[in-house]
Amino acid sequence: MIVLVKSGPESLVPDWRKHFQAADPRLDIRWWADPSVKPEDVQYVVVWDPEPGRLATFPNLKITFSSAAGVDNIVRDPNWPRHLPLVRMGGDGTERRMAEFVLWSCLSLVRNARRMQLAQNEKKWINIEQRTAVAERRVGIMGMGNLGKKAAMLLRDVGFEVAGWSQSRKDIPGVESFAGKGEFAGFLARTDILVCLLPSTPDTNGLIDAESLALLPEGAQFVNVGRGQHVVEADLLAALDSGHLAGALLDVFSEEPLPASSPFWTHPKVIVTPHVASLAPRSERARYVAEAIKAHERGEPLPNVYDPVKGY
Ligand code: NAP
Repeated sequence: MIVLVKSGPESLVPDWRKHFQAADPRLDIRWWADPSVKPEDVQYVVVWDPEPGRLATFPNLKITFSSAAGVDNIVRDPNWPRHLPLVRMGGDGTERRMAEFVLWSCLSLVRNARRMQLAQNEKKWINIEQRTAVAERRVGIMGMGNLGKKAAMLLRDVGFEVAGWSQSRKDIPGVESFAGKGEFAGFLARTDILVCLLPSTPDTNGLIDAESLALLPEGAQFVNVGRGQHVVEADLLAALDSGHLAGALLDVFSEEPLPASSPFWTHPKVIVTPHVASLAPRSERARYVAEAIKAHERGEPLPNVYDPVKGY
């Protein structure tokens, strides 16, 4: 069974092959642009950013796997095969890594890590007053899906007061649930650290703009581990510069890699990370895909299937 892979450069294919072999030796792993593969022999693909139009050229394709949790780079192709399942990367490893990254981000903001980093760069031994503690910061997570839920539970267990905002209401012990557009303003008003873990859709892109940032309490902080498209970056910068926002940790940007000219790189209130919040190792991702293929062959439901109607 031929599986085409396009996730990272061609040089990673031997490593992908090794991990897929361990998970299911029947899977024949080939580079996405391998000229010796006939399009009709391709049954599965594992991709992050396929060139538009290419997925439609495989007549016997059964499943498209996104090698990451987001599928925005796949569904932007107007000809992606929407009659077939598109499976988002998931599993315990991905969820756990994201939850740990969000916890680290919130703790870094609470403990003023950016100021300490700047002082260290200048070899300055400054006394940074640690005025807030975990229990005094209310975290609000936008997006309570696989990743948001896990992050909310970990933050709650550490002692943060946590709420989540999603389309539908959630019932997670110790986590307040806000749902839908009508409860967005109330959710923002009670949030000291806003964490974005939404998928990128027409409804969510640009949601974090001047208007929504203004609804956060004075001195709030922001973590973006969703997508750069969620944020109007000029509005975020203005909120940081005016003092309304006290800090931000940004893992995702409208343009990636973040251009050298971006003011975020050197902003004294911003920690920049290079889209690394949660990417499970290839071994785990290969196992996840191989298990999903086996489940599909047994006629069982696939995990994490993208819903084109909902848009995520
Ligand atoms: P998911 O399971 O599909 O969950 C999406 C959540 O967003 C759901 O709770 C959904 O509400 C909510 N939502 C969607 N549209 C909404 C809207 N218009 N208003 C309010 N809530 C809305 O997704 P996931 O697996 O948790 O992943 C979330 C995102 O994280 C991915 O799409 C990707 O962009 C990002 N991500 C980033 C990294 C990184 O390294 N930085 C890694 C992995 C993923 P319902 O529950 O009511 O449906």
